[in-house]
Formats: sequence, structure tokens, C-alpha cells
Amino acid sequence: MQRDKDLSDFPIQYIRGVGPQRAKLLKRLGITTVKDAFYYLPYRYEDRSNLKKISELRYGNIETIIGKIVSAEIIQLPKKNIKIFELILNDGSGLLKGKWFNQPFMKKILKVGQEIVLCGIVKRNPYWGFGFEMDNPEYEILDNTNEYEVQDMKSGDSSLIHTNRIVPVYKVTSGLSVRQMRTIMFNIVNSHIKDITDPIPEEILIRNNLSSLPESLASVHFPDIDIDLEIFNRGVSKYHRRLSFDELFMLELGLAMIKQGKVIEKGISFNPEGNLIKKLIDILPFRLTDSQKRVFNEILEDMKKPHPMNRLIQGDVGCGKTIVAIMAMAVAAECGYQSALMVPTEILAEQHYINIHNIIEELGLKICLLTGSINTLRTTRETLRNEIASGEIDIVVGTHAIIQESVVFKNLGLVVIDEQHRFGVMQRALLRKKGINPDVLVMTATPIPRTLALTLYGDLDYSVIDELPPDRLPVQTFLFSSRQKEPVYNKIKEEINKGRQVYVVYPIIEESEKTDLRSAIMGKNAFEKFFPDFRVGLIHGRIRTEEREMIMTSFKRREIDILVCTTVIEVGVDVPNASLMLIIHAERFGLSQLHQLRGRIGRGSYASSCLLIAYEPYGDEARRRLNIMVKNNDGFRIAEEDLDIRGPGEFFGTRQSGMPDLRIANIIRDAHLLNIARKEAFNLINKDPYLNNNPLLRNAVEKFWKGKIELFKTG
Ligand code: ADP
Ligand code: MG
Repeated sequence: MQRDKDLSDFPIQYIRGVGPQRAKLLKRLGITTVKDAFYYLPYRYEDRSNLKKISELRYGNIETIIGKIVSAEIIQLPKKNIKIFELILNDGSGLLKGKWFNQPFMKKILKVGQEIVLCGIVKRNPYWGFGFEMDNPEYEILDNTNEYEVQDMKSGDSSLIHTNRIVPVYKVTSGLSVRQMRTIMFNIVNSHIKDITDPIPEEILIRNNLSSLPESLASVHFPDIDIDLEIFNRGVSKYHRRLSFDELFMLELGLAMIKQGKVIEKGISFNPEGNLIKKLIDILPFRLTDSQKRVFNEILEDMKKPHPMNRLIQGDVGCGKTIVAIMAMAVAAECGYQSALMVPTEILAEQHYINIHNIIEELGLKICLLTGSINTLRTTRETLRNEIASGEIDIVVGTHAIIQESVVFKNLGLVVIDEQHRFGVMQRALLRKKGINPDVLVMTATPIPRTLALTLYGDLDYSVIDELPPDRLPVQTFLFSSRQKEPVYNKIKEEINKGRQVYVVYPIIEESEKTDLRSAIMGKNAFEKFFPDFRVGLIHGRIRTEEREMIMTSFKRREIDILVCTTVIEVGVDVPNASLMLIIHAERFGLSQLHQLRGRIGRGSYASSCLLIAYEPYGDEARRRLNIMVKNNDGFRIAEEDLDIRGPGEFFGTRQSGMPDLRIANIIRDAHLLNIARKEAFNLINKDPYLNNNPLLRNAVEKFWKGKIELFKTG
């Protein structure tokens, strides 16, 4: 029977040695087809081409050895609460001890009599003196039971798969060993590499010096003996590069098609006379920075075009993005359209509302606040809805409740999404589904390189506000241990006596039995006792909206000296008179969060300080974060470090962005490749908008983006 050659339709179950049982296990790894398997890459490689004898080992090197387990037991350290699983391996030339800390279950896996491979750093055994040891080494059991014969291979000798070569090591799942997985992969590569077709136009491959797809796939699974192991282990060999390129290219092709769709899409062409903007600039208590002016002009140009605007504004905390958004909303209002300002949290919505409603009302416009928990504020929900529907209200500030609920606008022309890098393609698609095609402006303080931003935010155009208002002084940051109370209390007194105000941020609202963290409620009591002359306020997420708004208003009016709070104040809160921030348990916060929090001070012309109070003991990573904060004010630097610590998935929350997952490429590591892929993709879509001349590629892109977005509209 002639099988369909499309490997993405070829169920993995029918591969020799898989069957229904193992197919289930493979599914857990995301592998259901032969194509999935090809793209399930080893996470590291081991050089077993040149196995050492134990007697030949050298301290400090990473080595791989094979031997028999001659003893295996769990050892309990007398004082500490540590269990160590220890085994001794004999290979005929000598003995080596393997140790696994706090993994007693290892006893069930590795047993006396088994022949195993160990790979790890060779250390000196502290007790034997002359002997060798490996701590937490990688292992593989060389047991042939449960192994099916590999008959497709020319030699039929499984020692060619697992030893005497550079072997791939795969992440596996319980019930499936690395060794079994490797055999399956070997079989797949052997029998199906000939079925691999290359969807990418040849000229693109040649222009960018990319190796062929079959060669790349074969090599990343079973590399030749003379490769550079380190480069393979980092996933940056020329073969990995080719596979990463493919993914990034598919991603960018999709983005290019979405963007092209936008250009064709009809939108509002705003044509303001400009009077409202003039009036707005007149009432501002400051002069706009050059960056703000430039970015506003970019927005204005977009708004005038007959297609929907999709623009991202990036600028570090405190650079003044809000006013630029207000200017855009004024343009919309002057042309008779409504605007919505959407933010991720209720407190930020409340803050924006408090901060901007004066300016907006002075312009003669009507603004309202709409969040999930509002019911009795100012007017009822019902009335608000009616006023929005009738067009009486010009600007709605709120959480994404605005688009999720059944709020009907008379004529929504502009949506501004603030402080949120997770609103992706999907959310905007949602808006469009409601039959509206407004201009969209996304604002974020997350500083990321341009191509990355373009990719993560999909099809957006991009503007940067790259200067802070001129009167700003950089915030000074200091690290204190929780025991150093005097200098901290003195600093608080000093600032308040100068007429300034203080934030004290806690990680949790209320103490609980689960943690020994200090809490905001506890903190408020302590500060009140310690500073009887100062006015102490408390704000957190469990306080009701109306009350929260009252507390923030009194803080703004300087009726509160010390505001004890949680991270509800993380974004958007703007009280320029506050010049000191204490972050309690600073060791518990992530970098971006610390940077956001610190962005709440230094917003006026006063010299400001941020005191990070850390509770011992904490680990190296926390120490690293705290030091980065003390040394840096630059959000870009901090974001880079954060990316490095957390990795891109966590950092960007790409899961929620509506983007396809990347399995091989890493947008940080492969940033350069991303640039190339983007250029090539946009180029190609320009020439061949629906990829009709590249059917293989069209098919691949469609599969890559499947379920995320309809790239190819039918009809
Ligand atoms: P972010 O970009 O972090 O959202 P905001 O828009 O909240 O920053 O602005 C921070 C503070 O700076 C606000 O108090 C705002 O009124 C003020 N501000 C904005 N633009 C200027 C400017 N050009 N000169 C002086 N202060 C400004
Ligand atoms: Mg802001």
C-alpha cells in the first residue's frame, strides 16, 4: 500500500516498536505523528564514541562511563535532614561512587547487578581520597529487557545506537526510558528521512546559508562523530539553526499575513481639526518631551489612515505614556468617536480614572469608570451602560470587563490597552468579533528589542518613548537586611518631616500558617505603633473599590504619610510627592515586579530612594536579583536580566498571547535568526500574498498556526 507521504498525517503508533501502548506515552510528550517525532529534539548529547575506563578518569572533566552496579543504598546524614542514594559502579578497571541527594526513589530505579551509563562531572571522593565520585549524574540503564529488536538497521546491532557514537538524550516520561525513546527515534530517522520534503523556497535557503531539511533533521537526532558537542548541547549547530529558522519563518509568515489583512481591512479615518489637542496642551502643567511629541505624531498619522491602527508604545515606567494616550483619545473625541482605556487591574483602572478625569472634563468630555466590581459608584451600572450606548460618554476607563461583558458602544473608535503585554492578537480579534474595528494602541513598560516586540505583539507597529521628563532624578536603591532597623526608620522620619510620603510594600495581605512572611495588615499595626505621629494608611486587593478609591485619593491629597500596601500599587499609581519606598521581603519579588514597584517613586522632582528589605536566608538567585536592582535603574537592562533568569515563556507569558508555541527556536538566543526570518517572510508575502505559488509552504504555515487564527479567509 502506498502511504500518504505527509508525515504530519502519519500516526506514531504505526512506527515499528511503538504500538498503542507506547503511543499513549509519546502523546504525553506531545508526539502523535511521525512529524512530531522528527521535531522532538534531544535536550542534550553525550559523547559515547570514546568511553573512558574509570581508571583513566580525570578530576573536573565531564565524562561518560559504563559499568555494573555493585552496591546501592540510601544513607541518612546524622544531623541534617538529608537522604543520599549512593551506588558503586565497577567497570573492571576501578570503582566510582554515584550520589543522588534527596531522591530516595532512585533506589527503585537503579539496582545491584544492572549495567548502566553514567555521565557527569568527575569529582574527588572525599572519603576514599584517591577515588572518584559523580554527584547527581545523568544515567541510563543498559538493560536489554523490554527492548524490541531494530531490524531495519543494516547491522542489526543496537550497540550502534546507544554506544560508540554521540548519542542523543531525550526528555521522557515514566514508562518510557531514554533508551527506548532513542531506539524509536533511530527507527524513525532511518525509515522516514526520505519522506521529508522541504517547504522552504530554495533561494531563501541559499541566500541564508541554511542546510537542507533532511540533513538537518537526521543530524540533530544522530549527529556525526566529529561534531562540536558543546555547540550541539547549546542547540546552536547549523542543523539546529536550520530548524529554528523554519519555526521562526512560519511564525513570521503568519504575522505578515495578519498584517497584510489589516492593511486591506477598512477602518476609521480620523480627521481632527486639532482644537481639542491645542486646548489639552494648554492645560497641561508641563511641556511634552520630544519623545512624547514624536510618538503622538506617529499615532496621529496612523489614525488618519483608512485602516485600523495597531500600534505599540513602549516606554519605561514614568516616561509619560498616559498623556500620549489621552491626546489620542482627544483626537477620537473631536471626530465624534468614543474611546476605551483598558488596563489589567481594577486598582489601575481606578487610578487612571482619578488621574485623568479632571483633565478630560476640562476639555468638555465625559468620562466614566467601568470595572467588574463596580455597582454603586457614582451611578449604577445600568445608567453607565445606557450612557455608553447613547454616546453620552466619550471615554470609558476600565478592566477588560469592557470588552468581555455586554457593553455596547455607540461608536467606539479607539481602544487603548495599558500596561499589558499579554493582550495579543486574540483580544483584538475579540473586539473585531463584536463588529467593531477600532484603532488600537497598546502601551507597555516592558522594554524589549524591536524585532522581538514586533513578533510578540504580532502585527503591531511600534513606537518608543525613550526619554524621561527632564526634572527626574534617578531613584537610589539600597539593600538592607531585616535586622537593620535604625537606618530604615530614620530615613522614613527624614522624608516625612520634609513633607514627602512613603510606600511600604508587603508580599501578602494577611499572615497565614503556610508562610512566615510579614504581611501588610501586620505591617500597618507595627508602623502605627512605632510612628504615632504619622498617619498610616492601608490598601490591598481585598478592600472594596469605593474604599480603595477613597484611600488613594487621601494619599494623593497628602492626608496619609505612610501607605502600607501590597503589589496592588504595582502599576499605574501616580503620586509624585511620594519619595520613599520600602519593599519588605524584597527577596521574594521578581525583577520586573521590583522595577514596576520602584517606578511608583521618582515621579516628581524630588530625590527618591527605594529600600529593599531582605529576610535571610535567601538563595543565590534572589541575591542576584537584589544586586541587579541596586545597580540598575534602566528598565531595559533589568528586563534583559529577567529574561535570562526566567526564560522567555515565563517572561512574556506567550501562552496567553495567542501565538503558536515555539518548540525549537528560542527568540532570545535566536534573535538574529528572528530578524532574518522576519525579513524573508514579509518579503515573500509581499510577492505572494496567499502563498499560492508555494503550496507546500502554505500548507506548513497553516498547520503551524492551526487553531490560533484563521490565516486564510475563505470566500
Ligand atoms: P507611565 O509611562 O509610567 O505610564 P505616566 O504616564 O503615569 O507614566 O507619567 C508619569 C508622571 O509623569 C505623571 O505624573 C505625569 O503627569 C508626568 N509627566 C508626563 N509627561 C511629563 C512631562 N513631559 N513633563 C513632566 N512630567 C510629565
Ligand atoms: Mg502608565
